[in-house]
Amino acid sequence: MSDTPLTAPIAPSDRLSRRQKPWLLIGGCLAVTTVLWVAGRVSIGFGGSLWPWLAPSQVVMLWSFTCAALAIVVVSRAQALEPLIGGLDNGVRLHRRLGLAAFLLMGLHVVLLCLHAVQLGQSAAVMLVPFWPGARTVDIAVFYLLAGLGVLAYAKRMRHELWLNLHRVIGVLFLLGTAHASIEDGTIRFFEPLRTWIVILLLSGTVAWTYRVLLFRSFGPRFLYTVQRVVQRGPRVVDLELRPRDRRMMYQPGTFAFLRTPSLTDHSAELHPFSISGSPVKRDLRFSISQVGDFTRAVSDLSPGDEVEVFGSFGGFTQSHFAPYRRMVWIGAGIGITPFLGMLEFEKSNDDFRRIWFYYITRTPEDAVYDSEIRDRFLEADSYIDYNQWTTTDRGRLTAAQIMEEVELGDFAVMLCGSSPFVEDMVKQFLALGVPAERIIYEHLQFR
Ligand SMILES: Cc1cc2nc3c(=O)[nH]c(=O)nc-3n(C[C@H](O)[C@H](O)[C@H](O)COP(=O)(O)OP(=O)(O)OC[C@H]3O[C@@H](n4cnc5c(N)ncnc54)[C@H](O)[C@@H]3O)c2cc1C
Repeated sequence: MSDTPLTAPIAPSDRLSRRQKPWLLIGGCLAVTTVLWVAGRVSIGFGGSLWPWLAPSQVVMLWSFTCAALAIVVVSRAQALEPLIGGLDNGVRLHRRLGLAAFLLMGLHVVLLCLHAVQLGQSAAVMLVPFWPGARTVDIAVFYLLAGLGVLAYAKRMRHELWLNLHRVIGVLFLLGTAHASIEDGTIRFFEPLRTWIVILLLSGTVAWTYRVLLFRSFGPRFLYTVQRVVQRGPRVVDLELRPRDRRMMYQPGTFAFLRTPSLTDHSAELHPFSISGSPVKRDLRFSISQVGDFTRAVSDLSPGDEVEVFGSFGGFTQSHFAPYRRMVWIGAGIGITPFLGMLEFEKSNDDFRRIWFYYITRTPEDAVYDSEIRDRFLEADSYIDYNQWTTTDRGRLTAAQIMEEVELGDFAVMLCGSSPFVEDMVKQFLALGVPAERIIYEHLQFR
């Protein structure tokens, strides 16, 4: 048992939380970009028609480049970067915001350029219409292409593989655009420190893109496993149990890995992320899969002995990253139970006593396919666990207020996993009830 009393107030941490660190990195990069632009203008001069529109248009475009480069870096799947970005799952969330910021800033850049053209007595068409006399046709075409692809990036119904390819193209276009701007006449070209900084951002984005798109499958953290068993747990839920072929992957309970299944020929090129639902102390690796689409349905066709490539592990959704929190609420909704299954299994061998309130939410009792497994295990855990299977058809939606009533004392942390709408709603509820953001730890089973 741990020596830390369960009710001791959590000491304020001198370390930044997993969500604060990346914002410090992003804020720092934007600050460097801005300071270097100002220094560049001080050295080159602020004269000419720089104000009121041209100067801000340059700055917002530099911010757009900075955001785009960082957006590529945070989803590079480099394990070494995970502590900095708060886990790859958090990196994906950051990517969404940074990508959107890059697009909006690019749009603002064009608006400011139009205003600048009008100020000079020209038509705004010179910035908007390709082949207009005096227009920079290639720049305008690239802008429209990026804007179009940016809109498509939010298409919810597009096939995932196509959507990924679209992202890869957007990344290349942004990087080429940045390289092009660096060699054009302007602050970047004439002020060496700013040019060096932009080259650093460009190289970081290019290396991250190359690693993720071209090298990850060969040089990423890849482990060869073979199928041991495929167990149908419910009408649309299957367990995939894998045995290491040469090296065994070590991981933190609750993290996730990407799977590639060469024997499923229609899907052999795809990598799908799944939380690990077994414990790292076990030789075999287990994934619990809800059969929602082509790939997950095809998992049932795997046979013992089939090869599976496992890439991982990734993510920061693990109780061991949150040692000061001795009282925890775990909430898994639907297939969002998977990381908790691994964490619970690990609890049997984990000498780290905590007080845990564990909720497994499903629509109907029949959907709770892991209920019996949890009931068999939760009393064997080192931690003291209160288990509650919550069925929404009988009891309605579980709310944060109901959980707070049960837990009573305020010094707890919540771990949440499930669909994006469920997680977002619960996070809002806990925040509204005054639970500090750093104590709400969550994972969406969704990368879009
Ligand atoms: C961090 C993380 C952990 C996950 N853990 C689990 C788990 O433990 N159990 C489980 O059942 N599901 C889990 N998922 C979801 C799982 O990855 C998708 O359900 C699966 O990839 C769907 O593939 P499909 O072809 O069967 O379905 P589709 O019908 O093609 O897609 C269904 C949904 O899954 C998304 N998706 C499809 N392909 C991919 C892909 N290659 N990469 C990422 N998302 C994709 C789509 O965008 C869509 O939203 C997890 C997802 C993430 C991001």
